[in-house]
Amino acid sequence: MGDSPDVDFLIAGAGILGVSLAYWLTTLYDCSVAIADLAGTAGAHTSSRNTGVIHRPYYLDPQKKRVFARTSLLSYRMWEGLAASAGLPWRRAGTFNIALEESEVRTLEEYGRWGIENGMDESELELMDGKGVKAREPEVSCRAGLHSKSDVSVDFGAFTRHVWTLLLARGAKFLGRRKVVAATAEGGKTEVRFSGDGGMTSIRCRFLLNAAGGGALAIAKMAGFAREYAMLNFRGEYWVVDEPYASRVSTNIYRPPRFPQYPFLDPHFVVRADGERQIGPNAVIVPGPYVYSGAGLPNALSYLERPLLPKVSLLTDRDFVAMAAAEWRSSLSKDAMCNRVRKFVPGLVASTLNRRAVFGVRCSIVDRGGFVPEALLFKGDRSAHIINYNSPGATGAPAYSALVVEELRREGLLPALKERRGGAAISGWDYESVVSRF
Ligand SMILES: Cc1cc2nc3c(=O)[nH]c(=O)nc-3n(C[C@H](O)[C@H](O)[C@H](O)COP(=O)(O)OP(=O)(O)OC[C@H]3O[C@@H](n4cnc5c(N)ncnc54)[C@H](O)[C@@H]3O)c2cc1C
Repeated sequence: MGDSPDVDFLIAGAGILGVSLAYWLTTLYDCSVAIADLAGTAGAHTSSRNTGVIHRPYYLDPQKKRVFARTSLLSYRMWEGLAASAGLPWRRAGTFNIALEESEVRTLEEYGRWGIENGMDESELELMDGKGVKAREPEVSCRAGLHSKSDVSVDFGAFTRHVWTLLLARGAKFLGRRKVVAATAEGGKTEVRFSGDGGMTSIRCRFLLNAAGGGALAIAKMAGFAREYAMLNFRGEYWVVDEPYASRVSTNIYRPPRFPQYPFLDPHFVVRADGERQIGPNAVIVPGPYVYSGAGLPNALSYLERPLLPKVSLLTDRDFVAMAAAEWRSSLSKDAMCNRVRKFVPGLVASTLNRRAVFGVRCSIVDRGGFVPEALLFKGDRSAHIINYNSPGATGAPAYSALVVEELRREGLLPALKERRGGAAISGWDYESVVSRF
């Protein structure tokens, strides 16, 4: 083997974030890109295992969640362009965020202000009293509701696979069933080693971009970053609502979280892109990013992975422990899950829930201060690592990935490559217009 790298960019993770990063790199540069993934295809994990809502950023604190708010706003038209050109579902179901208690009405008022501050148009949001909500959604009982009219139900997995197919046509190489197990910067390149079907293999790249979702923290640590952080995993479970009850609700129904500092949300009533109605997700603590069923006991030792302090301090927090126990109850009992939604859709009965739907796992990063609110980007001269890329991460992926690439470019961290000049291959995915509006 000579000294030259095998590829310019290696992307770890073929989720919605990894493929969006690859899209921008192959748009901007005359470069070779390989994408490695544990799975045999793109979008096999969280990107296909979520609620499927393109969120408008009214519920995101403009200070604490600025990046998620801004990227969600900017990505909306990009997804709309992709859905239209690829013939993928774009169901403008809208969302009611509802208040059951007086304190939640104040939260909804605050959401209305945040939405405008985050760049939404006033016409997109309407605060109604309980009667107003009932006139629109007769099955819903609440004190008040904030109607976010432009929320859209989509299939993020299909979006991911569409961008991935486009990348393959551009010459990107897919390294499926490869788990990144080591990443070492050496000279002008990074050597990445994989375990997988074909035994141990490796590749040398000029730059590694780590967008490996549930595996991203481990890879970042391999490369010497993010050692002070730990990961906790929460499985979100859904049930399908059967007809004839299902079609009685036609808008997504959400509630503001009682403890916004934790990833526990009351399950929503969800209208899927294909029209199926579901309730979920809860947030059941599990030991690993791919524990889609059961308690994951064989992975239980992962709770002991270092650093321990951030996890131990949560275990001494009574609210956290009580909520974690309640989430497990709603995993074990369908009635318990149904009762959580009956608080605002009282006509729903457990006998209409006969099938579990696809579950997804949230990978939350904690430090000594508790849950980290935003995604974190670690940058080096041979690699960059994105961790804590959680909801509304699927919504914001096209704009967030452009911002990451722009930040790396501005700081001179990307390898010197020949630039390309070309139009957007996907309608509305125009690099300059995204990065200039952040
Ligand atoms: C229950 C739930 C509901 C959600 N609902 C919404 C919603 O309605 N709207 C919204 O905008 N967002 C939502 N989200 C968040 C959104 O789904 C995620 O932010 C987004 O999918 C993250 O994409 P990703 O590409 O980072 O991760 P992933 O899709 O998980 O991709 C990471 C990839 O990395 C691969 N990988 C991991 N480790 C390695 C390794 N060592 N080597 C090689 N490959 C590796 C995995 O196989 C995976 O394919 C939800 C999330 C959850 C859990």
